[in-house]
Amino acid sequence: MSYDVLVIGGGPAGLSAAVNVRARGRSVLVVSNPAEENPLWRAEKVDNYLGLPGRSGAELLTELRAHAERSGAAFREGKVLSTVPMGKEWYVSIGSDMENARAVVLAAGVARAKKFPGEAELLGRGVSYCATCDGMLYRGRPVAVVGYTESARREADFLRSIGCDVTYFARPRTCVITGEDAVRSVTCDGETAEVACVFLLRPAMAPTDLFPGLAVEGGYVTVDRKMATNLPGVFAAGDCTGGPLQAAKAAGEGLIAGQSAAAWAAAAEKEG
Ligand SMILES: Cc1cc2nc3c(=O)[nH]c(=O)nc-3n(C[C@H](O)[C@H](O)[C@H](O)COP(=O)(O)OP(=O)(O)OC[C@H]3O[C@@H](n4cnc5c(N)ncnc54)[C@H](O)[C@@H]3O)c2cc1C
Repeated sequence: MSYDVLVIGGGPAGLSAAVNVRARGRSVLVVSNPAEENPLWRAEKVDNYLGLPGRSGAELLTELRAHAERSGAAFREGKVLSTVPMGKEWYVSIGSDMENARAVVLAAGVARAKKFPGEAELLGRGVSYCATCDGMLYRGRPVAVVGYTESARREADFLRSIGCDVTYFARPRTCVITGEDAVRSVTCDGETAEVACVFLLRPAMAPTDLFPGLAVEGGYVTVDRKMATNLPGVFAAGDCTGGPLQAAKAAGEGLIAGQSAAAWAAAAEKEG
C-alpha cells in the first residue's frame, strides 16, 4: 500500500507529525525502532512538557503514541536503512522490505555515534547495517555483530540460525574495521576477530546516510519555516533539525512538518 506520508521516527516529533497528517485527512505510516530504544524512554521525569507534567519519559511516549494510534496513523516497527525517490514517490527500505509514500517526514532524533575507522571505506564490502538483509551472503563464515540496540542480540541469533559463526561485541567504546578490498578483521575495545563481515547495529543513522544529498549544517538537517528540506517532498522535525533538544520543540516542529507533508501529498495527488 502506498501512503500519503511516511514518518521516520516514533518520538515526539514523529508522533506529532502523524497526528497532524491525520488531522488533514491523509494516510500516514510511522516507521520506528521499538519505543524502549527511544532516548526519552530513559528519562525519569519530564517536567517541562506543557499540560503533562511529572510523567516519566516512558509514560509520556506511551501517551503520545496512544494519541497517534487513535488518530488513525499506521505503525511499523523497524529501522529505516535507506531511501530513494522514484517518480513522485519516496521508497524507504526497512530491513529487507520497502514502503512508499508521496512525502516523508524525517523525525529520527540525533545520531550520536560517529563513524568508526574503516566503516565508510568498507561499507557494502563487508560492513553492513542489516543482518536480515545481508546475512545470507555470509552463511558458514565468521562475522561480527557490534550491537548498540536491544534488538541486536536477536539479529545475532538470526545470523547463528543461518549458519554464521558470530562474535558479539556489546556496546564497545572503540571499534576499528580493517581490510583492503573487503573486511578482514574488527577490533573492539582491544579484542580482535578475523571476520568476513561486520554488522554495525546502532539505533540511528546519520541523516545524510538515509537521504544522500540532504543539506545539513553542523550535523543538523537544514529546514525552512515549513520544515521543508532541500529535497522535494522531504520534511524534517525535532532533534534532527537542531536545538533546543527538547520534547515540546520536537512536537511543535512535528506539527508543522506534518501539515506541510500533508499539503505536499494533496498537491501531488492533484497533479496526478
Ligand atoms: C535522559 C533524557 C532525559 C530527557 N529529559 C527531557 C526533559 O525533561 N524535557 C524535554 O523536553 N526533553 C528531554 N529530553 C530530550 C528529548 O528526549 C528529545 O528532545 C526528544 O525526544 C526529541 O524528540 P524527536 O522526536 O525529535 O526524537 P526522538 O525522541 O529521539 O525520536 C526519534 C526516534 O526515531 C528512531 N529512529 C532513529 N533512526 C531511525 C531509523 N533509521 N529508522 C527507524 N527509527 C529510527 C529512534 O530510535 C527514536 O525512537 C531528554 C532526553 C534524554 C536522553
